[in-house]
Amino acid sequence: MRFTHTTLPQRVVFAPRDAPRAVAREAGRLGARRVLLIASRRAAAAADPIAAELPVVRRHEEVVMHVPAEVADRARAAAADARADTLVTVGGGSATGLGKAVALTTGLPLLAVPTTYAGSEATNVWGLTEGGTKTTGVDDAVLPRAVVHDAALLTSLPTALAVASGLNALAHCVDSMWGPRADPIDRALATEGIRALAAGLPALARNGGGLEGIEQTLYGAHLAAVSFASAGSGLHHRICHVLGGMFDLPHAQTHAVVLPHVLALNAPHAPEAEGRIAAALGAPTAVAGLAALRARVGAPHALREHGMPEEGIARAVAPILAAVPEGNPAPVTEENLTALLYAAWRGERG
Ligand code: NAD
Repeated sequence: MRFTHTTLPQRVVFAPRDAPRAVAREAGRLGARRVLLIASRRAAAAADPIAAELPVVRRHEEVVMHVPAEVADRARAAAADARADTLVTVGGGSATGLGKAVALTTGLPLLAVPTTYAGSEATNVWGLTEGGTKTTGVDDAVLPRAVVHDAALLTSLPTALAVASGLNALAHCVDSMWGPRADPIDRALATEGIRALAAGLPALARNGGGLEGIEQTLYGAHLAAVSFASAGSGLHHRICHVLGGMFDLPHAQTHAVVLPHVLALNAPHAPEAEGRIAAALGAPTAVAGLAALRARVGAPHALREHGMPEEGIARAVAPILAAVPEGNPAPVTEENLTALLYAAWRGERG
């Protein structure tokens, strides 16, 4: 084996039903005296008890998906105006993303409390949208210094969104098998992530999961994000990034729909990954295992149901082809990519 793996420095705390105290402890370790709390109004039920235990000097409630630049500017101004020394986010990938945008320009330490399975909290990747174009970058300044996971905060996530978000996490695992920097450590983390997600997601879909189902999913989602942060964006993420940006599609649902089609394309060309994914799903093949899991959880299955126009398929092909990562297991051509996009748009079951 010859590889170089970077482990990102971060404290990760699992604290079921105990987020307020755990966040207060982590904020104390960071020397927080003046906290800017970023949480949308919809996240108030989760954020209020956390805020009560912190030296909050300002709350910022404007949270918008994909972090529009003007929203980031207003949050940065709020941090400066309030002379904040620490950022705390409570929410999904959009809240974490806004905290990262503020950390990027201010250097303030960030503490993240996730309420979805998006996984942004475990990466040093930031994203900003300006004039309809999303720019992403890598900077260690945006990596949250600490993450507090509390399964109780995810009980309010509607089941359909929880399922889509959990499948977004599964996509992190699958893409980590063949991402541009994928290494054996990433593959090991991703394999355990798939196993945990395959256990947690059906419980979520059945009855909201109870704390145990949510916790399994959260654990799997965290492993997914850690492996993905190291392996980098593979074909699946390149496709979703282009589609999401061009057609303003919902993040988690887009990933959930596209995943089986990328897996079907790559799996025959990546036997080791195929074997790992199949074993982690407890199925004879990776494709069959994912199809069975998707059927059990009622996964979203057609991009046309999430706002993508049919004529968009032809428009998306060239930008995706330009973004295909070097070393993707399957050769990607205009023909097979167009077929993949049609299948994902129509909702053909693989
Ligand atoms: P989100 O944060 O926008 O949340 C989706 C919806 O769910 C929102 O309406 C939100 O209010 C609601 N919600 C969140 N938590 C809830 C809860 N517990 N109960 C009830 N409602 C809740 O979406 P997301 O899928 O979590 O994150 C997507 C964003 O994160 C995208 O912009 C994506 O690009 C980014 N992202 C970035 C990275 C990275 O590494 N930088 C990784 C993954 C995702």
